[in-house]
Amino acid sequence: MVKAVVGANWGDEGKGKITDMLAKQADIIIRFQGGANAGHTIVNDYGKFALHTLPSGVFYNHTTSIIGNGVALNIPILFQEIKSITDRNVPRPKILVSDRAQIVMPYHILFDQYEEERLGGKSFGSTKSGIAPFYSDKYAKIGFQVSELFDEELLKEKVERVCEVKNCILENLYHKPLLDKEELLQTLFSYRDMIAPYVCDVSAYLDRAIKENKTILLEGQLGTLKDPDHGIYPMVTSSSTLAAYGAIGAGIPPYEIKQIITVCKAYSSAVGAGAFVSEIFGEEADELRRRGGDGGEYGATTGRPRRMGWFDCVASKYGCRLQGTTDVAFTVLDVLGYLDAIPVCTGYEIDGEVTKEFPVTHRLNKAKPVLEVLPGWKCDIRGIKTFEELPENCQKYIEFVEKEIGYPITMISNGPGRNDIIYRESPLKVK
Ligand code: GDP
Repeated sequence: MVKAVVGANWGDEGKGKITDMLAKQADIIIRFQGGANAGHTIVNDYGKFALHTLPSGVFYNHTTSIIGNGVALNIPILFQEIKSITDRNVPRPKILVSDRAQIVMPYHILFDQYEEERLGGKSFGSTKSGIAPFYSDKYAKIGFQVSELFDEELLKEKVERVCEVKNCILENLYHKPLLDKEELLQTLFSYRDMIAPYVCDVSAYLDRAIKENKTILLEGQLGTLKDPDHGIYPMVTSSSTLAAYGAIGAGIPPYEIKQIITVCKAYSSAVGAGAFVSEIFGEEADELRRRGGDGGEYGATTGRPRRMGWFDCVASKYGCRLQGTTDVAFTVLDVLGYLDAIPVCTGYEIDGEVTKEFPVTHRLNKAKPVLEVLPGWKCDIRGIKTFEELPENCQKYIEFVEKEIGYPITMISNGPGRNDIIYRESPLKVK
């Protein structure tokens, strides 16, 4: 059984917590896209961790954690991350890396920085982890695949070819120091020696696992609105954030993905630039940011303060639809307990007309939020275990959101820990 855990919005919805929680009953957890540019925060018996590259299953002894072919693999960061968890007494996780994954090169990170510098104020809000240059090179067919590390002749020839192109840009566009071929080759040899024990034909491994009825979790990064095709282009990430891409980025048949758990946060947050219709500002935003998540809404990778907003039904409905949602996990609901009244964005007004359909970017930039205000519940809901025990206004908030987005909310997260979860029978759930 293959399940995907993905985000409906701009990321930071709490996918890490949901994956960590579901990993208890899983055999394999696999990252299928993205790189070390975003992070998941996980709170469990070992403490609080920010993961960027490792799948959120690494805290269990019984799971295998896989870096799929769709990932932008930063080898030094992967090893730093393994060390950072084993240093804190987490048993060494079982990790496999796809022989078809491609490698983030030191120059990808440099090019990311140089391009942001060049663009100045017109930048795309990159985290400067080399992700956009990495995926550009992958599709321009000058990327380095893990398997290629083991062919010295090929590597030498390719380094020669790549340096020619990169140095031309470094010299003429960015006016920066040139790449040294020998140094690059040595870096690749060191990567080969680090990664060798982990390399695996992942699609063959997963094929066997599926036949043996293993439970496999595909762990997504970011959310629908950051997808390069269906998101708020160009303020998007460079690899698909959709569950459908899980099939490609892991190497499994699409029809094997039986459950798609789309994580939606009970309010909105976003990082980086781009349209954010339900955004709030000033003291109202500061308070939600301070109280949000687990210790405030600040980026797990960058520490950047997140932009805050009310729950956006238009964006979330769209986000769930593109993911192919079978279940919504509605997270961080406990945080809203301080509010007397909770605004929810139920429509976008664009050129004087109200729509509930998420528009393309140039229209999105003109959208103003249509808000409905629901009564708050004014208490702490952490520790509650069933839907019926939730305060009435809290139940109504969930039911309102479910009706607006049109996808079944079957899980409600009311705290950052593994056990802070309420399972719910949804009237929308088709059995
Ligand atoms: P991800 O990238 O989607 O995994 O999300 P992040 O890890 O960036 O952000 C989620 C934050 O919210 C983390 O700090 C989590 O520990 C925290 N979190 C997750 N679920 C809940 C919840 O239900 N309640 C609270 N208060 N915090 C939560």
